[in-house]
Amino acid sequence: MTSAITGPIDLPGQRTQYLQYRSYRSLPTLGDLLPGVSRLTIRWWYGQDGKESLRGSSPRVWDFVPDSRAHLQLDCASHSCVDGGHDLSGIVGNLVEVGDTALQGALMCSGWRQGVDQRLVRCECLLQYTVRIEYQ
Ligand SMILES: [Zn+2]
Repeated sequence: MTSAITGPIDLPGQRTQYLQYRSYRSLPTLGDLLPGVSRLTIRWWYGQDGKESLRGSSPRVWDFVPDSRAHLQLDCASHSCVDGGHDLSGIVGNLVEVGDTALQGALMCSGWRQGVDQRLVRCECLLQYTVRIEYQ
């Protein structure tokens, strides 16, 4: 017997969307993850130090309240990146642990890309961020 998939999931794209939706729904809320935090604001953009943004990468602001799903993992901006992304959960967790309210920094992508000689090199996509935290 083959494994049964219930629901209208036929096309690969639909299935991917469905799985992404499920994984988003399975994220903890901010209140579960960081009790005592009333608001978390992350302003982020892709770019090098000192530059406000790369062309085509405007700063974005994500605002979380205790009921929000704590979506703290950002994709890499590079299409050729493998296994990449920027995980801000550790940075935010450390801030809350010491009771700090703001931090500005940059986070290198954790992935890889193919270099000129076909060898894998580290992806150098840089995420700039400012984090603000309000406590209850
Ligand atoms: Zn990357």
